[in-house]
Amino acid sequence: MARGQQKIQSQQKNQEKMAKLKKQQGSSQIGTAAAALKHSCAVCKSQMPDAKTYKQHFENKHPGKELPAELKDVQ
Ligand SMILES: [Zn+2]
Repeated sequence: MARGQQKIQSQQKNQEKMAKLKKQQGSSQIGTAAAALKHSCAVCKSQMPDAKTYKQHFENKHPGKELPAELKDVQ
């Protein structure tokens, strides 16, 4: 019986560990997502908050340039 309990306890510890790890990863993922929101214009290196703005910027400022692949499916 004691062995079984130990197993459960270590499982709980592991779960706590994983939860903490997930939390840490989660917050760093948010950081990555926020960073991904910033688009940098391929031509003039201006920072765009989102792809839609970037596409509008690109079409207005660089009409002669070919649209970057990442903007082709942006509505
Ligand atoms: Zn630009």
